[in-house]
Amino acid sequence: MQLKEGFIVCDNQVKLRILSNLKEFKRYMFISYKELIHKFYGYVKENAIFSLVSNYGISYDLAKEYMRYAPYTENKAYNDIKLDSLYKVKSFLEKEDLIEKDPYFIYQLKQYPITFMDIKETKEFEKLTSELSKITEVILMPKETKNYQPKVSEYDTILDELYDICNQIKILHKKGIKYSNIYLMNMNSDYEFILKRLSESYNIPIAFKPNKNILHTRFVKDFLKLSMEKESFQDILKELNDSIFLKPLIQLITTYSLEDKKPIDYIDFFKKAFKSFSYEEKIYEDMVNISSSTIYEDNDYVFYLGLNQGISPKIYKDEEYLPDNLLEKLFLPTSIEKNKEERENLISLIRNTKNLYLSYAIRKQTLELFPSSIIQELGLETIKKTPLYGYSKDEDMLRLSVLLSIFDKTKEENMALDYYDLSDIPYNTFDNKFKGIDKAHMIDRYKEEGSISLSYSTMKYYFECPFHYYAEKILDLSSYEDSIATRIGTYSHAILEDSYKDDFSFLDSSLKHKEEGIKDIDIKDAKKAKFYFEQMNEVLVNLIEYNKNHEALSSLNKVECEAHISYMEGNLKFHGFIDKLLYTEINGEIYAAIMDYKTGKDFITLDNVEDGFHLQLPSYMFLLSKYEKFKDKKIHIIGIYLQKVNLIALDNSKDIKEQREKSFKLQGFTILDKSLIPLLDPSYNKSDYIQSMATIKDGSFGKYAKVMDEEEENELIQLVDVFIHRVRDGIMDASFSISPKRINNKDQSCLFCPYKDLCFKTYGDYIHLKEKKFQDKEGE
Ligand code: SF4
Repeated sequence: MQLKEGFIVCDNQVKLRILSNLKEFKRYMFISYKELIHKFYGYVKENAIFSLVSNYGISYDLAKEYMRYAPYTENKAYNDIKLDSLYKVKSFLEKEDLIEKDPYFIYQLKQYPITFMDIKETKEFEKLTSELSKITEVILMPKETKNYQPKVSEYDTILDELYDICNQIKILHKKGIKYSNIYLMNMNSDYEFILKRLSESYNIPIAFKPNKNILHTRFVKDFLKLSMEKESFQDILKELNDSIFLKPLIQLITTYSLEDKKPIDYIDFFKKAFKSFSYEEKIYEDMVNISSSTIYEDNDYVFYLGLNQGISPKIYKDEEYLPDNLLEKLFLPTSIEKNKEERENLISLIRNTKNLYLSYAIRKQTLELFPSSIIQELGLETIKKTPLYGYSKDEDMLRLSVLLSIFDKTKEENMALDYYDLSDIPYNTFDNKFKGIDKAHMIDRYKEEGSISLSYSTMKYYFECPFHYYAEKILDLSSYEDSIATRIGTYSHAILEDSYKDDFSFLDSSLKHKEEGIKDIDIKDAKKAKFYFEQMNEVLVNLIEYNKNHEALSSLNKVECEAHISYMEGNLKFHGFIDKLLYTEINGEIYAAIMDYKTGKDFITLDNVEDGFHLQLPSYMFLLSKYEKFKDKKIHIIGIYLQKVNLIALDNSKDIKEQREKSFKLQGFTILDKSLIPLLDPSYNKSDYIQSMATIKDGSFGKYAKVMDEEEENELIQLVDVFIHRVRDGIMDASFSISPKRINNKDQSCLFCPYKDLCFKTYGDYIHLKEKKFQDKEGE
């Protein structure tokens, strides 16, 4: 059927195909389905997101949902809180001139017909075409109906599937098929991850989609740092190094009309945007395409991967921001309609594509995968396949090395081991030892940065394993993201800090920090976080009351929360935040107690402190001893404690208050001097506030009491002093060996380390230490 001049609604691939087949000039105006929807119903401007976030006090994710659905609402009573609110949002956006409409589009539509290359069987499509047909001629291009019956290849693993696909692409290319006529479909992240490696070793150019999380790149870190310091984006751009991210960043700033805004106010927005950032990668003319189109020409070669149950056709569930019953009211596709469409598209692709290679794997690591039911439904023949060797030397060697290693371990034979020459394979020659870096790099780096900044936690990495520190702090590989647990911690700390302000109101503080706590996360996680914040509220209310009662008895009548103490010496900076410092000054001397809130599992110990373990509380003691505020004053540290801020399982048959208070007791080390303890807690020997401090009949402490004298405190402070210098020297010396620790044969370093896949540590790398009890240290 001949295409009429006018609007053509199709995807980019179909557009290019139509253009390449054109033999004469035609007035075709190509438009994607999404663009048509935007032009016809109006499009919410990108910068509307900021108005929605500030006007409704919502997260960026929720604002995006509002922007997605509000334009479809109409001025009528839906009798549903979500839809009626969405209409109010639409009115707000219209009032603020944040909905863009193209006044010429309807005018143009009246002059030209509109042709749909892809017919959708959804209510949205029905409504749209019916409204369009009141304005112009609507042509629905019938889909070609052929009846191809391709075979399906089954592989043991995704890796085998990809090996064979790369082999086949190589064969096609050798036969003269251009890479640009080859398409890969249904790629998910599992496939993409492996294929990126294979595309290099097979030397196949593939146009991967440039949508990545670049949050942890040096470029983004510099940008975010400058955003805190500079007054305008113009100033930031002047200082940023050139990078492939620079142009798309400028585009992002202009798209959202941020040119005149203050960068510091948009840091959260950019953090979110950098998590899925689009930028141009190197594009060659002849590249294999990653495609989602369902229409191909007879000279195209299409590889459809992962034809597995549950993945293909994709299954949508009724769990969007708007549920199916509300989507129906807006004539938008429901999950049922989307599932139907997915299935029909897949069948149409299979039936109408001449050169279609369908494949699936039956295993993903230890997980069993199943073939898609569509194979049986369409009666497609399945062939079990194993990839051949001989198309990529690097990958062949790798595959043979794996077979060799399996043979070494299990004696399982494989014919490939007999067929191929294994002498070139550097099997068993790998050495994981860190070969070091030039010290000059460290000198240059810290000359530029001004100082080596250490905290208790970074020092912990270094002592546990210097290579862990290297990966985390020097290579900057951390992919830290706030987990729900971290958000609960931040929320609780913030309310506890607020509780010492004169105008404290629990409700206001909770509302404020709840909003901050769900910023920047998706709706599902936000719901979960809100639930836990609510649960924590009860703990926090009780804890605040418990602490106030205790502090009313204490003579340490001054409180400092989140005290940031920083110690500088030459190029060394050691700093930390003390959650709560209780103190008083008597005759020019300071009497203080240090408290650290713990929202996770933790226990107090100073065992193996001389090996660099459990340095948190000693680090706070060191910092306190260097606190500028108490300069030249003698400081008596009455105690260093953790205070648990956790949800606990309560036994309803027992006294609830008592159970809670037991969990709030300060856990840590107290000064041995009985004349000083009452300053913190006059009733200490009843152990109401400090755990295990009750005294026995003769007035001495029980065997579980953790006490230390001033000399021991000073020894710990000096130990930290020695350690921070030792770590500083190790870093400057570029000394980052892979040397994890075991104490009494128990791993202390690697269990939760995210760099396992990088260091390939061996048992021989471990440093074996004996358990050294803090209180036994004298007797050693
Ligand atoms: S896994 Fe163990 S050896 Fe490897 S970097 Fe981490 S701590 Fe070091």
